[in-house]
Amino acid sequence: MPTLGADLLLQELRFLLFDVLDAEALLVRPTFNHLDQLDLECILTAADDLAKREFGPIADIIDREEPLLLQGNVTVHKAVARAFRAYADAGFLGASLHVESGGLQLPACVSTTLMAIFGAACTPAAGYGFLTTAAARIIQTFGDVWQKSTFLAPLRDGIWAGTMCLSEPHAGSALGEIHTKAVLRNDGCYNVTGTKMWISGGDQDFTANIAHLVLARIDGGTSNASGLSLLIVPKMSLDGSSNKVSTIGLNHKLGHRGTSNCALTFGTDGPSTGYLIGKPHAGLSYMFQMMNEARIGVGVTAAATAYAAYRYATEYARTRLQGRDPETGAQVAIVGHADVKRMLLMQRAICDGGLCLCLFGARMVDDSQSHPDPVEASRAGILLKLLTPLIKLWCSERGLEANSLAIQVMGGAGYVRDHPVERLFRDQRLNPIHEGTNGVLAIDFILRGVRRDGGEALLQLLSRITSELASIDGDKELALSKTLAESVSMIQACAAILVASEKGVARAWASPFALCVGDTLVAWLWLRQIKAMRGHSDSVALSKQAAALCFSQLILPQSMAVIKNIIEGNSPPYNDPDTDLLVD
Ligand SMILES: Cc1cc2nc3c(=O)[nH]c(=O)nc-3n(C[C@H](O)[C@H](O)[C@H](O)COP(=O)(O)OP(=O)(O)OC[C@H]3O[C@@H](n4cnc5c(N)ncnc54)[C@H](O)[C@@H]3O)c2cc1C
Repeated sequence: MPTLGADLLLQELRFLLFDVLDAEALLVRPTFNHLDQLDLECILTAADDLAKREFGPIADIIDREEPLLLQGNVTVHKAVARAFRAYADAGFLGASLHVESGGLQLPACVSTTLMAIFGAACTPAAGYGFLTTAAARIIQTFGDVWQKSTFLAPLRDGIWAGTMCLSEPHAGSALGEIHTKAVLRNDGCYNVTGTKMWISGGDQDFTANIAHLVLARIDGGTSNASGLSLLIVPKMSLDGSSNKVSTIGLNHKLGHRGTSNCALTFGTDGPSTGYLIGKPHAGLSYMFQMMNEARIGVGVTAAATAYAAYRYATEYARTRLQGRDPETGAQVAIVGHADVKRMLLMQRAICDGGLCLCLFGARMVDDSQSHPDPVEASRAGILLKLLTPLIKLWCSERGLEANSLAIQVMGGAGYVRDHPVERLFRDQRLNPIHEGTNGVLAIDFILRGVRRDGGEALLQLLSRITSELASIDGDKELALSKTLAESVSMIQACAAILVASEKGVARAWASPFALCVGDTLVAWLWLRQIKAMRGHSDSVALSKQAAALCFSQLILPQSMAVIKNIIEGNSPPYNDPDTDLLVD
């Protein structure tokens, strides 16, 4: 039975998790059989309560009162410290850690749902917790016994926080350019020196210490990205003295203002001690193994950020009077205007579609790690690898459009700081940039994903979608499935061309192609949502159907129109070396 209620995020997420993606089926697997359905319900409700109590109410405040850098130390708003503490005390930092590490060992689709709940309430505050968990998970997976016993518990309990230190001023997308060095000492530790840029949570004043996970070069590695190593470099040494990690600057950002974002130097006036994780020169591969989940995490906070704005715009549209009913002459709320409804439904189509896409991706993480049939587990792993860049890319790209529409629905009121849609738009703007820019991810999708196996994994997915089109019931499902069938065959044709083309051509078409594949996936997941509501004709089911149709009539055809150029053999103008952008 669908559990979707009137309009709450929690109810929407329950619907996606249990009715569309059958998360309950995971609970019989040995990895998750310490949990039952009631446990999951309690955890979701506790998260929703905490998000509403400690995170939602501080979002505007911490946006206005940014972190400060005073005499080398960063201070953040006290409300962030309170929210982080409450999050840690409730056990959410350990939600996805193994039971042996003192965690809850939740399925990834459930921990991703928690990220949506906290992300919708206040991603900039929740980000400190997300990063801390990510650092703990890397240490749990790749750290040695001493590292686990030293760092895991304080990270899990929020005594320490964690960061990811990859980027440098001159090395963003091209991590192979990283200069930070780590030199082996006689005691087996490393002296780390270098400058890192853009480090989220790089300094703050609410945890006793910070575990920086730093990508650096140690002797003997190649000079490219595959020569990099990963080290834990604590802000304070384990004996409590300074570990010579300095904050040399705070970035003043468009959005995400509640999260401190720092330029850090390691080892400026003395050695910063680092502890090598795993093997030398394997750092990037460790990071990449965790990247699937990190990118789904960015995707889900993007979808949640769009959802929060959509909810606010809907409430506003219900009460804002503008225009009159031509028949009665009475003033009408703007929600009654077809064009405003269009904008709200487009937002819903993107938000519910994006949330479903992320939870689907997280369900593949679960299947790849716990499916009892090894063939199915491997199939899920292959699909996950292919789709992960798309999930982040699609949610942030379309999510930003949804956030823009939320402002448009509210007219001038949406453009000023009195309403949260302005802040949410600024927050969303980060998502196409970090965790790999969308442009770089699209190239990754086509070159390292689609082309690697001659397009086989993508074709298998498309044939799975096609087979589900066979069981269609009712005119709404039929309408959605017709556009979906068209886009599937266009993608098949484009994939064949891009697999056979020169790399330069594939790179040039990567972004439009990836967006269209993302749109197609989301349309397919919309069909699944509509199927899960079969037999229901209440207002929730009807609005879901309307949003699904909006997706297939207004959103999917946009990207299909662009990729038609690939089939027609048109060369993109920006791929012509003779096109000079610097026109006098
Ligand atoms: C608020 C914020 C928080 C961040 N948090 C962290 C963090 O915690 N830890 C961390 O390590 N980093 C963090 N980052 C850094 C982030 O990951 C980088 O900004 C991102 O990887 C892009 O790097 P860049 O800014 O140097 O842009 P560049 O790499 O210079 O890219 C600029 C443009 O060129 C394009 N481009 C670059 N290379 C190619 C290519 N080969 N082909 C096609 N197009 C290309 C990009 O798509 C982009 O549009 C953060 C950034 C921001 C803004």
